[in-house]
Amino acid sequence: MTIVAKVEQATSAADEERELTDGFHLVIDALKLNGVKTIYGVPGIPITDFGRMAQAEGIRVISFRHEQHAGNAAAIAGFLTKKPGICLTVSAPGFLNGLTALANATTNCFPMILISGSSEREIVDLQQGDYEEMDQLAIAKPLCKAAFRVLHAQDIGIGIARAIRAAVSGRPGGVYLDLPAKLFGQVMDAEAGAKSLVEVIDPAPAQLPAPAAVERALDVLKGAKRPLIILGKGAAYAQADDQIRALIEKSGIPFLPMSMAKGLLPDTHPQCAGAARSTVLKDSDVVMLVGARLNWLLSHGKGKAWGDAPKKFIQIDIEPKEMDSNVEIAAPLVGDIGSCVSALLESIDGKWQAPPSDWINAVNSKREENIAKMAPRLMKNSAPMDFHGALGALRAVIRERPDAILVNEGANTLDLARGIIDMHQPRKRLDVGTWGVMGIGMGFAIAAAIETGKPVLAVEGDSAFGFSGMEVETICRYNLPVCVVVFNNNGIYRGTDVNSSGSPDVATTVFVKDARYDKMMEAFGGVGVHVTTPDELKRAVDQAMDSGRPTLINAAIDPAAGSESGRIGNLNPQSVLKKK
Ligand code: ADP
Ligand code: MG
Repeated sequence: MTIVAKVEQATSAADEERELTDGFHLVIDALKLNGVKTIYGVPGIPITDFGRMAQAEGIRVISFRHEQHAGNAAAIAGFLTKKPGICLTVSAPGFLNGLTALANATTNCFPMILISGSSEREIVDLQQGDYEEMDQLAIAKPLCKAAFRVLHAQDIGIGIARAIRAAVSGRPGGVYLDLPAKLFGQVMDAEAGAKSLVEVIDPAPAQLPAPAAVERALDVLKGAKRPLIILGKGAAYAQADDQIRALIEKSGIPFLPMSMAKGLLPDTHPQCAGAARSTVLKDSDVVMLVGARLNWLLSHGKGKAWGDAPKKFIQIDIEPKEMDSNVEIAAPLVGDIGSCVSALLESIDGKWQAPPSDWINAVNSKREENIAKMAPRLMKNSAPMDFHGALGALRAVIRERPDAILVNEGANTLDLARGIIDMHQPRKRLDVGTWGVMGIGMGFAIAAAIETGKPVLAVEGDSAFGFSGMEVETICRYNLPVCVVVFNNNGIYRGTDVNSSGSPDVATTVFVKDARYDKMMEAFGGVGVHVTTPDELKRAVDQAMDSGRPTLINAAIDPAAGSESGRIGNLNPQSVLKKK
């Protein structure tokens, strides 16, 4: 859209009419030209009018209560769609709130762009004390993949093009785009403005692996007696679902999905080694990583978890620097996952020998044993519930509604749900990711509902929920089909800790006893339900998902049921000094 204005021509006496545009409209037009349909943000100075105008121009603008959740929403939109999610914030404090999400997106390889309004350079650079003054570009730089500032209206087109390409090409990540307040009001000729816009051509070009690298990987794989394929969230992001499935099924190799790769092939697939995780990590001799890093989540590829037997690694990743990050990679395969997996598939066609049956049998029997051991605990219909009983009910919900999206955060609530709730379709499990961060819950749930149109089930520890809980208002305001289940055990890890000092304060990890989180949803017109047994929980979730109404279910969990830091208590330093 353009503005028609009368411009006084200094040289001519006659008034001349010409069409003008401005910074506001150029940013909106540039985003629309590149297919941006949704912006997640929080309005305020200097971007309030920008949000209004974007909405008027047909972009969906979702306003949050806090920038961190808008940022998390943008990040997960990026993961789900392979297009950069856009987050819009005000300057300084709003920017900093969004920055946590931008850094988290970069760490997780999710493409997003944080667009923040900022103060004028003249004032910032002389540190003259503007309203919410801050050198945002300098602060953002070390926390994201790329950072740009646009000072002139005629550079908006190229600035947004650079931001989009930087976010999605190669290893995806977060990009910061700094837009000073004065830019929005800058006026230029509409025709020149339209010409200055850039539609990004092939934003994430295919990156083909070298044929020699493919051969090397195949040689290592063929030499394996006990091979294993590990699928990471990079594999889920790549949307090469059919090729990945074909490679696994043709090769006959057991696969282990990382948390957000669950469902790429169903967890119930006969080759899924999820329930035999420790065994396959320890006993495998060749491990092929597909879009998964050997970071702390995989014990850095060494030590007790990986056993004593010598191991060779093949790694498929778009980022060459990822190779040898923790251990030697015998066969690095650098390229995009779709291209790499297709190249491997072509070469194994016809001349592939299935892995030795003693390995397959060993994995299968371990899996069956572990599944059988777990089964009775998932059926327990007790009050108060323990985690297993409650998660058994939610597992059934996802089995019956495989296209629903599961958002999951917490400590015990996260660790146990990851193992217990089987996923059946790709990109349906969204969780705390590489940092294991708390606070992604409502942001992820909102974006998942908006980007996919599918029902969302957010399974939250009571502590985890607290980080983004105010966004239930946002869920109600946009009437999103989100069902939040709060696993309420009265505290962090457990609700039973005692303050040893004798003061009236409760222990540092304890919350208000028997709180009713369901009332929070009711406060904004949604449905609140309080349940005490797995049967009640299942009924309430089914009803929420059938109705599509915003719902919060307060699930009373035994306050004594959790363990410290869930499954990662070993990362928590403990004092060796005895109490006097
Ligand atoms: P997980 O936590 O599930 O193990 P990670 O986040 O550690 O997953 O690893 C994801 C990896 O996937 C990153 O190293 C990233 O570079 C890689 N990746 C992301 N997208 C692609 C892609 N399209 N092709 C190849 N590799 C990718
Ligand atoms: Mg708790």
